Amino acid sequence: MNAYFLKENDLGPFVGRLLAVTKLIGPVAKKTKFVFAELHAASDLRLDYDCTILPPKKVFFPPQQPLITFSGTKATSCIAPVDQVLFGVHPYDIKGIDILDNLFRAGNPDQNYLANRDHTTIVGSSIQRVAPRAFWASVGTEMTPQGHDAFITRIAGGYVFETRTNKGEALVQHGQFVEATAGQRDAASTENEGVGRECPEKLTHSSAEIATKVRAAFGNEELWKKLAADCLSCGTCNIVCPTCYCFDVQDTWNLDQVSGVRSRTWDGCLLPGFAEVSLGGGQTENFREHPYERYRHRVMRKTTYLNEKIGGPACVGCGRCGLSCLADIADPVHIVDTIMEA
Ligand code: SF4
Ligand code: SF4
Repeated sequence: MNAYFLKENDLGPFVGRLLAVTKLIGPVAKKTKFVFAELHAASDLRLDYDCTILPPKKVFFPPQQPLITFSGTKATSCIAPVDQVLFGVHPYDIKGIDILDNLFRAGNPDQNYLANRDHTTIVGSSIQRVAPRAFWASVGTEMTPQGHDAFITRIAGGYVFETRTNKGEALVQHGQFVEATAGQRDAASTENEGVGRECPEKLTHSSAEIATKVRAAFGNEELWKKLAADCLSCGTCNIVCPTCYCFDVQDTWNLDQVSGVRSRTWDGCLLPGFAEVSLGGGQTENFREHPYERYRHRVMRKTTYLNEKIGGPACVGCGRCGLSCLADIADPVHIVDTIMEA
């Protein structure tokens, strides 16, 4: 839509005025790391973050989410979204949100996700610091971030604020914006294009080549056993991933044994019980019993299985899994390189 310029010293007052009129969520410091959290002061906002511990999907799809309360045969929906602004989302995380939007809107749309999503205005942000295991510049290059309403880019002396939707445009009234010059818009483009060269890791094959080769490697059990040999089955690589969306649903009953709440909780395909099903009579069957089978399943999901449905790989190259895995075996670049060379 439009491109505006905001002087460096005017960012704080802009964020302060947004805080006065809406719930505002953005990257904030947590000891030496960063998390997406509700802002209480403009100074909480840290657009110089590298990567947050958890992705911003938690704003629409929280780790634990009540779905309905029930009493006898009566059920009441827990959907109660509030208008909010999610400020400062890096492009790779916008792509993660795009993927979840696609998956949660398809088929039988997930209203519990969509209600929160549709009440949120997303402001993307340029990347001022690149995370230690990031490779977003070389993955899924056929997919461009689309789900944001505006995008803020830091340039010399201030910020270029580009609006994409009416929701993004509506934010402009709260700041001292002026129309951006052609030079300022060019500076923003140069900034966003150049930062990709700072990614410390890089995939050297196209998404299609990777998908073909990884799928062909499915039956190479020795390869998967070797790759997953140190896996602790902790599920951390699932939990930190912006595109993982599996959940478990449970009913919790009150003491009256009549009423209660049905909730969903993030699940992870690396966890031992993820693929365990009941056979009845106290018997169970686990169709991905061994850690290497679960490890392989995650790699297949990220590189291959969903590609046709979402238009590219289900990995946005944030590097969170590689950084979080205690055994240091979850980094997709290392995994893909090993498979491509096998
Ligand atoms: S690959 Fe790493 S993070 Fe994932 S379950 Fe195994 S040990 Fe945990
Ligand atoms: S697989 Fe790893 S690098 Fe890819 S999006 Fe998920 S957490 Fe990020």
